[in-house]
Amino acid sequence: MNFDVRQLIGGHWQKGARTENLRDKYTGEVVGRVHCADGAQVDAAVSGVDRAQSAGPLAPPERQRILAEASRLVDERREELIAGMVCEAGFTRADASGEVNRAIETLRLSGEEAVRLVGDMVPMEGAPGGLGRIGFTMRVPVGVVCAITPFNSPLNTVAHKVGPAIAAGNSVVLKPSLQTPATAEGLVDILLTAGMPAERIALVHGPGETVGPWLLDDPRIRFYTFTGSTAVGEAISRGAGLRRTQLELGSLSSTVICEDADLDTAVAKCVAGAYRKAGQVCTSVQRLYVHRSVADQVTEGLLSAVAELAAGDPRDPQTSVGPLIAESEARRVESWVRSAAASGAVVEAGGERVGSVVTPTVLTGVEPDMQVMCQEVFGPVLTLQAYEDLDAAMREINATPYGLSAGIFTADLGRGLRAARELEMGSVHINETSSSRVDLMPYGGVKASGSGKEGPRYAAREMTEERLISITTG
Ligand code: NAD
Repeated sequence: MNFDVRQLIGGHWQKGARTENLRDKYTGEVVGRVHCADGAQVDAAVSGVDRAQSAGPLAPPERQRILAEASRLVDERREELIAGMVCEAGFTRADASGEVNRAIETLRLSGEEAVRLVGDMVPMEGAPGGLGRIGFTMRVPVGVVCAITPFNSPLNTVAHKVGPAIAAGNSVVLKPSLQTPATAEGLVDILLTAGMPAERIALVHGPGETVGPWLLDDPRIRFYTFTGSTAVGEAISRGAGLRRTQLELGSLSSTVICEDADLDTAVAKCVAGAYRKAGQVCTSVQRLYVHRSVADQVTEGLLSAVAELAAGDPRDPQTSVGPLIAESEARRVESWVRSAAASGAVVEAGGERVGSVVTPTVLTGVEPDMQVMCQEVFGPVLTLQAYEDLDAAMREINATPYGLSAGIFTADLGRGLRAARELEMGSVHINETSSSRVDLMPYGGVKASGSGKEGPRYAAREMTEERLISITTG
């Protein structure tokens, strides 16, 4: 492949002030270059979309038409998008296809929301001073939305930001991860082909440490939608000040298997939820709590399923677990596993590294202060602990600083619902893992996992201002 990843500034594809190499994440080979912005280009990008927005928003049916057509075009261009992600993200074909299928849905759902955005009637007469008055709210676009996105979902997370922003009538400045810029460029190109006016969307590239602060310092941006690490999320929150944000941040996700669960189903779902995208998923099953009475059976099932997962070249159709985004990340994960083993953890499977590939790893005998337990691994590592008392396990789960998502497998719906009430999470899935997501659902975390909701319906609402209108009738 020979990528020449451009920027879209002021309605035109543009070269950068400088370029950076883009690498294949498995071979490490340079496969092209990325045009990166300087401060003047970021300023021009924001000026362009701000000027376009000041002419008023696109009409809702137009937004719907553009997003529906973009959804169709993602499907039409799926092979090109998959090949790009296999190369620049190191995804297996299955993981890359998953991104494409989900982005098709996310854009389609976003289009539907464009014609569904409504306010509320306000019962003004219900309070003193309101007699004779009629009140209602309308949702108006916030204006310019800035989307900053991570490497691990280079297509669907971008669609989850850009789709609702367009649905709500906003203009957008997109700054994708420098690791996966070509997929973002592909999506922007698709939106333009679908009829999105080029002056209403801008795409800039560059390292977050420089381009991020330029974007945060620009008061014309009214809303920041960010997915990435908690540390960067905190910087964005500080930089945004009084402006609104939607922050989808880090996690340390847990799943529980109770003694009455359908164990075969639970094990199969946990394997998928721990090793998809080599574990580089914010809701990845990092901590698995299994009731002591079924722990041996679950461990055995898990290990035999993990033994079937081939790790290595993402282009090989036999491979289930591809590389991590960088060899340095693979070395970090390897060192955390080694350090856990040195402190008494048992490496039941995996724990090896070749280049940037880490073999799917299962650890038992873990302790709360090991890195694999108390920090986000973002790699193919699952820790398994046997529990006696569900309440104690839930207290441990709630003791992490994060609160994105959890799963519990049980045949007892009452128990599942009690867990759902007690776990401090943005979502709790009964009979699914923490890593379960349907793109139309509200999705977001609490505590250090962020604030605000993704999901086209919820995000589109967040990217509007709710304006009250009152009429005094007499
Ligand atoms: P990251 O935080 O390093 O980078 C995310 C984006 O922020 C990139 O575009 C980067 O260039 C930019 N950035 C970096 N520094 C910045 C700054 N100072 N100002 C503004 N922007 C800046 O994250 P990553 O390594 O790409 O992704 C992995 C992280 O994302 C993990 O922590 C994972 O949990 C999280 N994540 C969360 C969710 C969720 O829905 N909660 C989903 C996916 C990933």
